This record gives sequence, C-alpha cells and structure tokens, in this order.
Amino acid sequence: MNRVLWMLVLVGSGSYPSDGYCVEPTSRFAIAIHGGAGRATSSGEDQQKVLRQALTTGVEMLEAGQSSLDTVETVIRILEDSPHFNAGKGAVFNAQGTHELDATIMDGRDRSTGAVGGITTAKNPISLARKVMTDTRHVLLVAEGADKFAEQYAEDPRIQLVPNEYFSTELRKEQYERIKAQRKQADRDSMGTVGCVVLDIHGNLAAGTSTGGLSNKTFGRLGDSPIAGAGTYADNATCAVSCTGIGEDFIRNAVAYDISARMAYRQESLESAIADILSNKEHPVRGGIIAVNLLGDIVMQFNTDGMSRAAADSTGRLEIH
Ligand code: ASP
Repeated sequence: MNRVLWMLVLVGSGSYPSDGYCVEPTSRFAIAIHGGAGRATSSGEDQQKVLRQALTTGVEMLEAGQSSLDTVETVIRILEDSPHFNAGKGAVFNAQGTHELDATIMDGRDRSTGAVGGITTAKNPISLARKVMTDTRHVLLVAEGADKFAEQYAEDPRIQLVPNEYFSTELRKEQYERIKAQRKQADRDSMGTVGCVVLDIHGNLAAGTSTGGLSNKTFGRLGDSPIAGAGTYADNATCAVSCTGIGEDFIRNAVAYDISARMAYRQESLESAIADILSNKEHPVRGGIIAVNLLGDIVMQFNTDGMSRAAADSTGRLEIH
C-alpha cells in the first residue's frame, strides 16, 4: 500500500498527531526478527528455540503496551546472550583472533539513533547503542572510545562489561581456524547476525541490529550493522528495517535508507522496494532484509540460500523459520 493511502488510514483513525508521535493505542502490533542470512536454508534447532523465546517475549511486551524501542532492545539482548548467533556471546573472530562487535538501534518517531562499532567489552552492544542515543549528542561511537564510554555505566545492570574471551565459543573458533587455513579474507558462511523490527500499539516503529561482523574480518573493519541507513533504519512515515549479509554491499547501496526513500518519494510498497533491491544485477546486494510498515505488514526477503527468521503480529500470525 502506498504512503498516501496509509496517511488516509491513519488520519481516519485519528492516531497520528502532526508531531509524529502516536499516542492513542490501537490493538495492532507486528514484530519480525532475523538471525542472519546465509547458506543454510533455515535456522537450526538451537537457533529456532532462541528465536521462539525472543519472539514470545516481544509479543508479550507489545500486548502489554510496551514501546517498539524497548521491545527491540529486549529481543536483541536475548539473541546476544545466546551462543547460537553471531552477536554478543558467540560472535565471530576477527583476523587478530579477537571479537569486535557492532550494533545500532533507531527510533521511528524522530529518527533518533544510537550505534557502536568495533567494541570489545560490552556484553550487550544493543544496550550500549541505546545509551549513545539517549545520553550523548552523537549517533555513533567506535572502538576504544566506545569501550571507554561503556565504563561509565558500571552501576547499570544493562551495561555489563566482560572480558573479550567471554564472546568466544568452540564453534566460532573452529570456523575461524578453518577460514584462516583456507586463506579466505573474510567469510560469512555462518549465519548469525541478529536484527529486530517492531510496530507497537502506539503506532511507533523501531529497528535494531547487532553482529560480530564477518569471520576473519580485518581488524578495524566496520560493516553495515552500525551504520544507520545501511543496515538499520526506522521512520514512522515509512518503515523499520534490519539487514543481514555482506555489509559492504549494504553500505555502498545505502540499502535500509533506500527502502524508506523509495516508499516516501516513489510511493513504492515495502515489498516491491525490497524485492527490487535484492534482485538488482547492476548493484548486487547479497543477503536478507526484514522490515515492517505502519500498517503492520511484515516483509522478510533474502537472495541467499536461507535466512533464519521469525515473525508475529496482533492477528495471531506466528512463524519461525
Ligand atoms: N552484515 C554483517 C556485516 O557485514 C554480517 C552479517 O549480516 O552476517 O558485518
């Protein structure tokens, strides 16, 4: 559905004040989660279990009237705490044999954004990203400076600091050793980046993404996940988006923002905007995208063999792949 039509629906329902903040709750909500795009056709049993837990928690929060932003953060924390995803615990190794983590969170009400890149000690990068959004004048903090920023939250249970080895798992170590032996520069055969997009009952959209990046990536490399407009975007006027795949493709093509811009400027539907980007031969974008619009329409598309993903909404839809 195009933007003009949404506006009519929203104006008709009286739930979209001119300041962009929706206040009158409706009963409509929608949530989608990804656990990374890659070679496997769907997520394994271990991943599915955690996706179910994360989705159920998200649905409960939304039914209770909690905000899209809180829901995105809580859902991503669950995935970061699981060793089965390439985010938080279970993050891949970089070429130096350590972990550098990236995350972004974005609020569709006013495009407020917080992001961290190349961080090494915060157990839950998504929560540190949210602190950048709420507690600084900035959008993105990276590496040592971001690690230092985290240290001021010693009293805050949401910003726990851990030694870098906390993120290591046997599986990631094996993958890293194999990739190094094959002299591959960077590899993303292993799915696992996580993301979440939400429409809450107040009509507000939010998006978040968290990752360890590409296995054996060059020290200092940032992917699309900490770049608003590349791997993550949210705007109440259009959609909330989280991406997974070859980060460089998503940065070069400003993918998350392009989806929003196509909807705003060309009145494209969410679905066709994403399909067009993922099938573009001239400017290939390899990976997957989850997104939701203000009507609660969920789109989950990928051009890899598969994408670990889950979705639910207020009509009773509930699926895990
Ligand atoms: N997009 C992530 C990155 O390039 C990796 C992924 O989604 O698997 O850092």
